[in-house]
Amino acid sequence: MSLDERGGATNEGAARSGGRNWRLLIVDDSNIIRRRIERSQQFSDLEVVGAASNGVEALELFRKTDPDLVTMDLTMPQMDGIECIEKLVEWKPAVRILVISALADKATAVDAMEKGANGFLNKPFTDRQLNEALAELIRGRR
Ligand SMILES: [Mg+2]
Repeated sequence: MSLDERGGATNEGAARSGGRNWRLLIVDDSNIIRRRIERSQQFSDLEVVGAASNGVEALELFRKTDPDLVTMDLTMPQMDGIECIEKLVEWKPAVRILVISALADKATAVDAMEKGANGFLNKPFTDRQLNEALAELIRGRR
């Protein structure tokens, strides 16, 4: 299936992100959102290495799978995204984190960025928005 057939990001940079393989960990307490992110991402050189439903599970999977990229929900049981971001960045400062959350509270988004997140995508999002945000994360603009 081509990028066009799947709809979403057809801009340059979506399918090619440059000469290496990226390992992605998806963190969200919604199974629907986790599957949506996994299915909608259109990068041929990106491998989804794990999916976690809360911060505690994310830390465990992070240790096991050593991802380069993380999509991070904020509101989750057991351990929320803010606390999880803090720990992930402590363990692996080079990790790139895209927060994917409903922006109910701007202060929370600012907090996430201060803790080391690299981008923010507001829920609900389109496939195109997701792929553009991931492309930006891979390019490492922030
Ligand atoms: Mg949530």
